[in-house]
This record gives sequence, structure tokens and C-alpha cells, in this order.
Amino acid sequence: MDNKFEKVVSFAKRRGFIFQSSEIYGGLSSCYDYGPLGVELKNNVKRAWWKKTVQERNDVVGLDSAIFMHPKVWEASGHIVGFTDPLVDCKKCKKRWRADNLLEVKGIKPIFQPGDWQKNDLKCPECGGEMTDVRKFNLMFKTQMGAVEEEASMIYLRPETCQGIYVNFLNIQQAMRKKLPFGVAQIGKAFRNEITPGNFIFRTREFEQMEQQYFINPKDKKKYFDMWQDARMKWYQEFGIKKENLRFREHEKNELAHYATRALDIEYNYPGLGFKELAGVHDRGDWDLSRHSQFSGADLQYFDPETNEKFIPNIIETSDGADRATLAFLLDAYDEVETRSGEDSKHEKEIVLRLHKDLAPIKVAILPLSKKEPLQKLAQEIQATLWEKWMTQYDETGSIGKRYRRQDEIGTPYCVTVDFESLEDKKVTVRDRDTMEQERIEISQLKNYLLSKFNF
Ligand code: ATP
Repeated sequence: MDNKFEKVVSFAKRRGFIFQSSEIYGGLSSCYDYGPLGVELKNNVKRAWWKKTVQERNDVVGLDSAIFMHPKVWEASGHIVGFTDPLVDCKKCKKRWRADNLLEVKGIKPIFQPGDWQKNDLKCPECGGEMTDVRKFNLMFKTQMGAVEEEASMIYLRPETCQGIYVNFLNIQQAMRKKLPFGVAQIGKAFRNEITPGNFIFRTREFEQMEQQYFINPKDKKKYFDMWQDARMKWYQEFGIKKENLRFREHEKNELAHYATRALDIEYNYPGLGFKELAGVHDRGDWDLSRHSQFSGADLQYFDPETNEKFIPNIIETSDGADRATLAFLLDAYDEVETRSGEDSKHEKEIVLRLHKDLAPIKVAILPLSKKEPLQKLAQEIQATLWEKWMTQYDETGSIGKRYRRQDEIGTPYCVTVDFESLEDKKVTVRDRDTMEQERIEISQLKNYLLSKFNF
């Protein structure tokens, strides 16, 4: 792992963003918990996505569907047969690997046909041992629903959120009187029994997706694929990821998932890992609604009253991982600078988390210069006028330089210092995280001042 990646992993723990799950029991592999600051950051990522994808558009509505779905959904979707990764075991050390990943490392395009594996003569990267033949490994988690353990009650944890959208297509279209094109968006947990999870929250077995399905007339494919490709890339840049760390990658035909006729990844340059998938834009054709029509018997055709055409809508999907996005925002924002917090600093380097202001976990810190009355009281009164709108933090311990440093580290865009003059002139000092500029603002105007700085 790259030094920066490692630094961010330990920083995320130290400052309360992300912890290993069940750590006191030795941890559960590839499962993570979002701490007090992490939950705020991830909620802001989800909120920023929802705002751009649903709230600020007339053509997209939201949904929150159940994680458990009728088992037939997964037959229809093709996941029972096709949602597999090529698995190989090392005969010597018994370690499991994804065949396609091992091939990629050797610069060979993945071939998914069992039997082709030996031709490439790969050895176990850990111990050099001989490998077994490739087997298809289904990534869906199974569980039982109901008290009686029998085949009929077998149920899956959803491996993607979008199926909940497809099976509600008719409900939503009719209830909301929607005409094509329109989209349905959903944020929720998904589960995949990944063969090789890893790289912190990049690949886990439980994760959260932010997915949007845009139902269209197939003749408009190109137009809407381009529209969503553009919208998704802009979103990452608008919320602070540097342009040079993002790129598109078109999938080749032999890489396409079973449902896709075209797929484009947005990749992020994860330090130490290189460019890897962050999000996807997929043309799913009429695969999903045709299959659900066929398996459920419901007529999922759309009748266009203007052209009198009847057809199965095609789908342009945007699929983003809330956790992978949170990781990318954290990595991109993490910066180390020369000491900027004054003489009392014992550090040569200081961390500044340059998160977009709307994503920052804490928006405003309130720092009284003294722990005593009447400054403490005034500072607490000011905090109470701000916390109805934003996450705030009150900090009265340590020198002001130390307190600024603590806030810079967690990305707090504004620090409000309450000093003795504040009692007289009814003003406070507002310090900007990035420019370190300080402005004297009337306490009565503080909320309005901050309102102009944030979008939510
Ligand atoms: P990968 O090639 O990395 O396995 P994928 O192509 O299977 O990803 P999709 O099925 O397109 O991924 O899922 C959409 C998004 O969901 C991904 O772009 C990623 O952000 C997120 N995602 C998928 N799998 C995981 C995972 N195991 N852990 C965290 N996020 C994930």
C-alpha cells in the first residue's frame, strides 16, 4: 500500500472517521464501522448525491426498497447463474484468488472460460504453489427467511440496489404519472461475498450503493448515456476531486457484465493502487424489464401516447459506491503542509483535510479564548444558534493554535473565535480553513454569513 493510503487509513482511525469492525475481538475481515466523523462525512456524500440526482431535477424520483426480495428476482436478473467470479485455490498454501485479477497483474486480458487458466501457467503470488482449475464462485450471500429451514425460504442479501427499482417500475410510473424518460434513484446497502476484499473500504463485503436507473426509449440511448456520463464526472469534480485524478474507462466487450450492452467506469487514481473503478455508467438495454416481465408475468411495456409505440423501456444506469466515493474524497482532500499553527506546534508537518465545505463533517467550530464566564456562556449561546442548521463542535481546551490545528485536521471549514472584545463589540473572528484569513463578523450576522458559504 502507498504511504499516503496507509497514512489516511491510520488518520481515519485516529480522528474518528473509520474503525475496523469488532476490533476488540480481533476485527472482522473487510468490515468497517464509520465513527462520529465518518458517519457525518458519508451522510454528506449521500446527501450531495441525492441533492444533485433527485432534488435538483424534475425527471428523477427516489425510492427506498427492501434488502430482502422475492428469490425469483435473482433468477430473473441473471444473478443466480451469472453473478460469479472466477475462483482459484493454491494447492499448497490454500489461499484463494480471483483468476481475472492474477491475469491482469501479468498484463493478460481476463478470460473467464474455465480451462483457459492452465494455459497462462500462473502460480500462487504468495507461495509460488500450483493452482487448481477455475471454478465459478457465486457472490451472493444466502440466508433463511422464516423459522423452518427448508429450500422454499432461501433468501439472498441483495448484491445491488437497482433490482428494487426495476420491480417497482410500474408502481412508480403509475403513482407518479411519469412519462419517459424518467429516473428512479436509491441509496442502500448491498452485499457481495467478494473472494478478495481489501484495500480498506475500497472493496468490502457489505457496502452502500447510490444508484440511479433512467428509463428511456431505446432510440435515445446515446443522448442519455452521454448526459449521465457527463453528470457523474461533473459531480465528483464539483465536490472537490482533482480533475487529474479522475478518468473514464470504456469496458471491452469481453469484460461486460451479463446485463450490460455498454459500460463505462469513472476511475480514481487511488494512491498506490493506480486508477481503479469509482463508479459506473451502464447501458443495460431492455435486459432487466424484459426478464422481469418474463419471470413475473407482469406487462412492463411502456405505451407512448404521443407516438402510439409500445415497447420495453431501456435503462441507462449510474452506479456509485458511497464507501468508495467517501474513500476517494478523503484521499483527495488529505494534505500535509508546513507548520501553520504558530510557535507552540511541535509538528513539522500538519494535516489539513481540504474537503469540499458541504462534505466536511463539522461545519463550524466555536472556540472561546477563555474557559471562564462570561466568554464560555457567550460561545455556548452562539453555538446554540448554529447547531440547528449545521454540525458544530465546541472546543475550549489548549491554545488557539492547537485548536485550529485540530479543526484543520478534520476539515472544518470555519472556526469562530470568541474573545474578550466580543463582549464589547458583539463581534467574533471567523477563520477560513484554506486561506487562514480571519474576518470580524457581527454575532447577529454570523448565521447569515455562514448560510452564504454552504449549499446544505
Ligand atoms: P469491481 O470491478 O470493483 O468489482 P463492479 O464492476 O463489480 O466493481 P458494480 O457492480 O458496477 O461494480 O457496482 C457499482 C459500484 O458499487 C462500484 O463502482 C463501486 O463503487 C461499488 N462497489 C461494488 N462492489 C463493491 C465492494 N465490494 N465494496 C465497495 N464498493 C463496491
